[in-house]
Amino acid sequence: MAEEKPEVVLSGLGVSGGVARGVALPIYHSDVEVPAYEVPPEKRDDEVKRFEAALVQTRHDIQLIKKELEDKVGEIEASIFDAHMLLLEDVAIIQETISQFRAGTYNIDYYYMKVVEKFIAAFGQIDDPFMRERISDIKDVSHRVLGNLLGKGQTRSLNIAEPAILVSEDFSPSDFALIAKDKILGIITERGSKTSHTAIIARSLGVPCIVGISSVAERIANGDYLLIDGYNGKIAVNPSAESIRHYEEVENLLRENRRIFVSSLPFPSETTDGVRIRLSVNINSAADISEDIMKYSDGVGLFRTENLFLDSGTFLEEEQQFEAYKLAVQKSLGKPVVIRTLDLGGDKNFQLMKMDHPEENPFMGYRAIRFCLDHEDVFIKQLRAILRAGVYGPVKIMFPMISSLREIERARLLVDTAKEQLAREGIAHADKVPVGAMIEVPSAAMIIDMLADYCDFVSIGTNDLIQYMIAVDRVNDKIASLYEPMHPAVLRILDKIVSDARKFNLPVSVCGEMASDPVYAPLLIGMGVTELSMSSGSVGEIKFLVRKISRSSAEELKREVLKIRRSREIVGALRAYYYRNMKGYLNITQ
Ligand code: PEP
Ligand code: MG
Repeated sequence: MAEEKPEVVLSGLGVSGGVARGVALPIYHSDVEVPAYEVPPEKRDDEVKRFEAALVQTRHDIQLIKKELEDKVGEIEASIFDAHMLLLEDVAIIQETISQFRAGTYNIDYYYMKVVEKFIAAFGQIDDPFMRERISDIKDVSHRVLGNLLGKGQTRSLNIAEPAILVSEDFSPSDFALIAKDKILGIITERGSKTSHTAIIARSLGVPCIVGISSVAERIANGDYLLIDGYNGKIAVNPSAESIRHYEEVENLLRENRRIFVSSLPFPSETTDGVRIRLSVNINSAADISEDIMKYSDGVGLFRTENLFLDSGTFLEEEQQFEAYKLAVQKSLGKPVVIRTLDLGGDKNFQLMKMDHPEENPFMGYRAIRFCLDHEDVFIKQLRAILRAGVYGPVKIMFPMISSLREIERARLLVDTAKEQLAREGIAHADKVPVGAMIEVPSAAMIIDMLADYCDFVSIGTNDLIQYMIAVDRVNDKIASLYEPMHPAVLRILDKIVSDARKFNLPVSVCGEMASDPVYAPLLIGMGVTELSMSSGSVGEIKFLVRKISRSSAEELKREVLKIRRSREIVGALRAYYYRNMKGYLNITQ
């Protein structure tokens, strides 16, 4: 601990609640700053040794990560690191670095970086997408080497020895594939927002997360002792004894709250006036399914399958997908599992999607169902795997980012094609699998009556719906304050979707983050939503809340807030409702 150093408090946006303490572990991705300094002649041999040692350490790091991935997802996916190993040991790069160093006067890191930059520029000139893709591999490997040379340790080599608070400009979903999740005490990033994937993952891990800390690398150093408050977006670097005492009290109260929430799990999820609210969980892989929670919830409401692909860095084969979906189905204890087809693109940038050039508007671009309908081979493989997993328990197929009837028609047709293929080949599969669409694009929200002819259910993806509705990028921290889930326009469209769906007997759930927010959930229930899907960590609290409120009071709340013009006042009314209903039960409300 660092009592001698003064406490420095940083403020950001708290996107995953909780309080944590621990050492900071910065993880840098890019733009490693490489210093240039003169090395006296007597130290020049040591410099080469330092370079060789960094190469050895990097080899060790890559082997370790490869092994971790092999254990988690299999050998084929982990084989990408064989390519990294070849690049690491590339004789041309090593020899040119050493010969430039011998001819010059500066430190060896400086020449290594120059040589790597030269190779990257050369690869960039090659008119072959496969070769251009190698650029990111070279960058990845060279960042690891530079990290070891500069003594910064982890630069994308995310094998964490001790539990720590991770600090970075941002994390990509695939970064989390490389991190032992039980070592993450908390997360701090420069970029991001409440619905960025880092925030979603932090909430699913149940660790506090704060985004929007500008120049984070300059303000938090490796090994700094931190105390972070994910509710209020506060970070104390070198916390004072007084801050530590204060947060110990807060932690105790929160622990007691959690105990109260968990104790409500075995009871029915029912409002005081007897309306059953189904609570299901959002998962990224079968590993996210906890048996304790599954016993007391209603299945999986959203399986974000693209994470399996992002984790492995490859397009998974049918067999690999089948195993992954089957495991999720088996762990779901006979309850339904809604498997969402690939939602790649947008911020879930996947190298293998082979874009000719970076998109100007990735969230409005080649994403989700658009990509799948353009790659029927990839899509059919996934559909076949889902249908086959359906033999082991009830599954449903859900398509992301549907924006027109044409897409849902075509997607449904391909489900039929997949079924026909399996039947022809004599492969066991489920035949009656409900098919649904995510409602996350305003155009889909406006044609619920038409979609009802093609869908067995719909699920509202509020994370995207909000961004498309009010034209605010969900991951851009500069405009995070404009991302208003309670914008009156958002409320109106949500109310319309739910009432149209009910009119056409189309089951409707909500699987965006709004469903797991105890302040917003009563409003959704007041609109008539009877299924909420959320990260496992929220089920206890939402069930506790559901059991304390009546649907009629939630309907009254809805009528009241639909008349309010400003989102801040809407949030105020929702908070007041939450406190009114939870007061007396909890030790502390955040
Ligand atoms: C959503 O958009 O609300 C959603 C659930 O999907 P994702 O967050 O994966 O885009
Ligand atoms: Mg979405």
